[in-house]
Amino acid sequence: MALSDKDRIFTNLYGLHPWGLKDARRRGNWDGTAAIIAKGRDWIIEELKQSGLRGRGGAGFPTGMKWSFMPKSNPDGRPSYLVVNCDESEPGTCKDRDIIRHDPHTLIEGCLIAGVGMGAHAGYIYVRGEYYNEHLVLQAAIDEAYEAGLLGANAAGSGWDFDLYVHRGAGAYICGEETALIESLEGKKGMPRLKPPFPAAVGLYGCPTTVNNVETIAVVPEILRRGASWFASFGRPKNSGTKVFCIQGHVNKPCNVEAEMSIPLRELIDRYAGGVRGGWDNLLAVIPGGSSTPMIPKAVCDDVLMDFDALREHKTGLGTAGVIVMDKSTDLIKAIARLAQFYKHESCGQCTPCREGMGWQKRLMDRMVEGRAEIAEIDVLESVTRQIEGHTICALADGGVWPVQGLIRHFRPMMEERIQQYHAKKNGGVMPLAAE
Ligand code: NAD
Repeated sequence: MALSDKDRIFTNLYGLHPWGLKDARRRGNWDGTAAIIAKGRDWIIEELKQSGLRGRGGAGFPTGMKWSFMPKSNPDGRPSYLVVNCDESEPGTCKDRDIIRHDPHTLIEGCLIAGVGMGAHAGYIYVRGEYYNEHLVLQAAIDEAYEAGLLGANAAGSGWDFDLYVHRGAGAYICGEETALIESLEGKKGMPRLKPPFPAAVGLYGCPTTVNNVETIAVVPEILRRGASWFASFGRPKNSGTKVFCIQGHVNKPCNVEAEMSIPLRELIDRYAGGVRGGWDNLLAVIPGGSSTPMIPKAVCDDVLMDFDALREHKTGLGTAGVIVMDKSTDLIKAIARLAQFYKHESCGQCTPCREGMGWQKRLMDRMVEGRAEIAEIDVLESVTRQIEGHTICALADGGVWPVQGLIRHFRPMMEERIQQYHAKKNGGVMPLAAE
């Protein structure tokens, strides 16, 4: 079902209206919040489960289930915390930024309801350091929510006390990993922790914590207002709801857009982003869900659906829904080498396969860009990625090798041709048999 304006949760994604409380209320935010909260924690969690909402930060973990992991009581005196991940750093992703700068009350109201849903009286929003102006808007919106009695003691007249704090990061990609984020919030160097224990058991300051992405929390109030079945009516089973897609690269009209889950990729690009530059036939490949998700070639793009399960069938993922469109003018090997550089730079260095492997991968990719390699080294590169994948504490290294694996999977002939061209140029057209 195509999404109409009345079905969009983010009514000010483009900043066409003021973000302040008065206008936010006119658009429907904070409508009946106390009544929603009065239905109780179990109802909130059950409704979220029924809605099918899955985490919008990239991993797609079922939100209702995640909240249900939080303790129902705190007999040992440890408080529970909500932490909102707004460290949005995945290349190709810029949706949470627009939510906090144009529609901050969707998030703030969501935080209060999430606090009730997980038994937390305090929430921390960890904002990417580079989002300086955006964090000012968010803080101002929180301030006016306090002034209006929507936060603090008896928040929104719900009987629930809830405080909300904004914390700025300092520009490290790894701090978007939930346990590194928690470390950073605690004032330590952002390095991931081993899981388990998951944050619901041992999180911020050793207390039960749930970390959710901005978009995940921001859609909660509207789901509960309109009902789980309304949200679940979009998309497909297990892939339901609306979703903010960030469409960029070689399209005529790059944009963020809230569309229905499971929309065909081609329709998403044609309808909302003005089509591929030079027409659909000029498409070469798409990175569908932010830099960590492997690219898919045009043949797959022709009819793939944009959801968790459909993209997984093609060995990629929905991720953050950062759609990077690359037309035939793109040097795909160079583009992926640039990502390899990014992941090398952002590795925290804690795990050897990541710290050393990201460097290996980058150096091999740099040579692949020039073609200064042997064809057999494509297999070496592939094997390096396989030795890194799954052998580290967090998912940074996995996300770092998947783009390279995607390149090899779909564009190996392009890599071989580059190598042949290099040697042909160097040796007057003769391919060497041994290493140079
Ligand atoms: P994950 O699958 O390990 O975890 C997802 C969430 O589910 C976490 O909150 C985790 O605590 C919870 N969880 C998973 N298994 C659980 C269990 N058995 N019990 C309790 N809780 C459980 O994924 P991740 O490492 O958190 O995230 C990886 C994703 O992050 C990637 O897919 C990528 O798309 C995305 N990402 C996003 C950004 C961004 O800017 N938004 C940046 C980098 C990566």
